[in-house]
Amino acid sequence: MQFDMVLKGGRVIDPAAGRDGVFDVAIAGGKIAAIESSLPANGPVTDVSGKIVLPGMIDTHGHIYQHVTGKFGLNADMVGVASGVTTVVDQGGPSCMTLPGFRAFIAEPAKTRVLCFISAYLVGGLEGHYYPELYGPDQVNVAHTVRVAKENPDIVRGIKAHAEIGGASRWGLDVIKLGKEIARGAGLPLYIHLGQLWPEKEGTHIDPDELVRELVPLMDEGDVLAHPFTRHPGGFISTETGDVHPIVWAALERGVTVDVGHGSHFSFDMARQVIAAGIKPYTLGADMHGYNVKIPNAGDDRSANPFFGVAPFNLTNAMSKILHLGMSLNDVVATVTSNPAKMLGMADTIGTLAPGREADVSVVEILNGAFELSDNSGVSVTAAKMIVPVFCLRAGERFVASSPLVPPAVEKIAA
Ligand SMILES: [Zn+2]
Repeated sequence: MQFDMVLKGGRVIDPAAGRDGVFDVAIAGGKIAAIESSLPANGPVTDVSGKIVLPGMIDTHGHIYQHVTGKFGLNADMVGVASGVTTVVDQGGPSCMTLPGFRAFIAEPAKTRVLCFISAYLVGGLEGHYYPELYGPDQVNVAHTVRVAKENPDIVRGIKAHAEIGGASRWGLDVIKLGKEIARGAGLPLYIHLGQLWPEKEGTHIDPDELVRELVPLMDEGDVLAHPFTRHPGGFISTETGDVHPIVWAALERGVTVDVGHGSHFSFDMARQVIAAGIKPYTLGADMHGYNVKIPNAGDDRSANPFFGVAPFNLTNAMSKILHLGMSLNDVVATVTSNPAKMLGMADTIGTLAPGREADVSVVEILNGAFELSDNSGVSVTAAKMIVPVFCLRAGERFVASSPLVPPAVEKIAA
């Protein structure tokens, strides 16, 4: 058989297939043609020895509704294929009203496989939900959103809503209950943002622990709790006890999963506590947007935005962080391959390398040294390993990881 490309000699890590070892991967006609310990060079060979070959990486939390969501939305391919990531899930950018624009202007022209969790709100995630008055229960239409989700199953894979003290101070949990109704009606998972987003309404005070206590019983198997490691109040760590909130355990037992949703609010201290308590994130999700990454030639001051961030990150940087925090490499790989494929209900399409499937493949390198990794609460660590993207194949088409959004690996120089 003739191949279009043979990736030769890389270490293939594919948790869904139970594969971790040196294999050759052959591509033909945009599909995986064969995976064997040694394949004949029946086509152009790319030597990937010393590198790691993964099923195409899936970023479960992106903000790529460029232009429509203001400065918040990044270019899909900069977050996607040009960063070594073959699938990006926009979290809550498009709404029932703006989904057709998302399809025509973002998903279709992108080289990256683009999916979304549709916003529970009529307006979607404009400027990253900057104006709270757009996000109350009167600004949700359950029937319309369910209909659009059901009409667009190739793109819409879940529902996005928020549970945080600013919203609760205005409307209690009314909005999240409507979000849950949409998810039930559409037969899709609900992805819930934890951690403060909006300032509390003047003259009110919401106990973040109480909010988590009321929220979690609303969630079902397959729903997703995001931002467990947030440095803002309302994450997994109880403000009363300093330990993981007991109700979180009950949720995880029911099959609710955890997405890191790194973003500007990732905290090493919180992550250490949650992981030490025995909670493993199921999916990763970089949560990059126009205010928390460095955009070349942005040309204006974005620092006034509440989610402005200076600590550099992307998906592979977030992988390096959870690797540093003690997760095994195979578990880290699962958070960007097999697990998100299940979360999206697409385990039969993406998340593993199997002959006959579209050739979505990510090739990364693990650098050894002393690398500085930092968060936005001022904590930095020195990691011995740094995962960096090299290139990816999306349906067999090759993209070099040349995105300006991939932060350079900064090695610490011994004094
Ligand atoms: Zn986000």
